[in-house]
Amino acid sequence: MAYKLMVVIPCYNEEEVLPETSRRLVEKMASLEKKGLITPDSRVLLVNDGSRDRTWEMICQLHRENPMFEGVKLSRNRGHQNALLAGLMTARNRCDISISMDADLQDDMDAMDRFIEKYAEGCDVVYGVRNKRETDTFFKRETALMFYRLMKGLGVDITYNHADYRLMSNRALNALAQFGEVNLFLRGLAPLVGFQSDTVSYDRSERFAGESKYPFKKMLAFAIDGITSFSVKPLRLITSVGLGIFVVSLFMLLYALISWITGKTVVGWTSTLASIWMIGGIQLLSLGIIGEYVGKIYNETKRRPRFIIERYLNEAGEDPAVDETR
Ligand code: UDP
Ligand code: MG
Repeated sequence: MAYKLMVVIPCYNEEEVLPETSRRLVEKMASLEKKGLITPDSRVLLVNDGSRDRTWEMICQLHRENPMFEGVKLSRNRGHQNALLAGLMTARNRCDISISMDADLQDDMDAMDRFIEKYAEGCDVVYGVRNKRETDTFFKRETALMFYRLMKGLGVDITYNHADYRLMSNRALNALAQFGEVNLFLRGLAPLVGFQSDTVSYDRSERFAGESKYPFKKMLAFAIDGITSFSVKPLRLITSVGLGIFVVSLFMLLYALISWITGKTVVGWTSTLASIWMIGGIQLLSLGIIGEYVGKIYNETKRRPRFIIERYLNEAGEDPAVDETR
């Protein structure tokens, strides 16, 4: 049985890798078709996330030369997660299955066969999981590990070593469309969609060319977003810390009273100073954490669109009509 596949690839300043990526995709799609896994009208959807280089021109040219390539142009840069969502929502109801991957060839395309086989076996979501992270820097590897542990500890269902290389059936895409959150963390949402899922492991290689669009600052912001979008445990932690400090303060009160009674009142300078700094620090930290959630609420209540599609290049010539069902 062959399925209509749409491969969704967000691209931000990827002019250096696109020629190679598209070449390999043509090969891959042909081989999948030959194996009888996908239909001839399967597509590759390249989402231009407001690139500043020639990425969009290249996508237009790819589309002209080979209708297998479709292009979506976002009105401006909206970040990886939003660009990916824009692509997935475009693919929704235009395919049987979607596979999302990065433009930089880090995700091994040969895993796609196994993705589709899992789908045929009845999975609606298939996660690509990296075998090893040798190609990442030591720093990226360690911080990523810490992040996954933290998420698990906070009770968030997230697949270890899974980036956004993932198969989602049309049914799963329709379910995803019902999640209206502005603070997007797709790899955390996919498990919430539910349905039967499985993992497929693959070797993650190095970025083919160009540089990572995720510098440390963006990575940290992404991690904080992931945590605060899916867990309220940090807020509870504040309550627990506050409770603990309250208990300690009761003892301090007792100590102060005894000191007062026994007439040794002036000596308390060190402890006073220490506690002022400590309590102040904890209070500020707690306010910061609460602020993070308040900020989230603020962003969510505005309900701004998560992406705006300027153009949609496809064979049918239909234009944007991509509804962002909320
Ligand atoms: N990307 C995007 N918008 C952005 C940043 C990145 O669409 O603002 C795309 C990028 O083109 C790539 C994918 O997201 O296809 C992952 O980015 P990258 O490879 O730089 O991240 P890393 O693999 O280093 O985590
Ligand atoms: Mg990459």
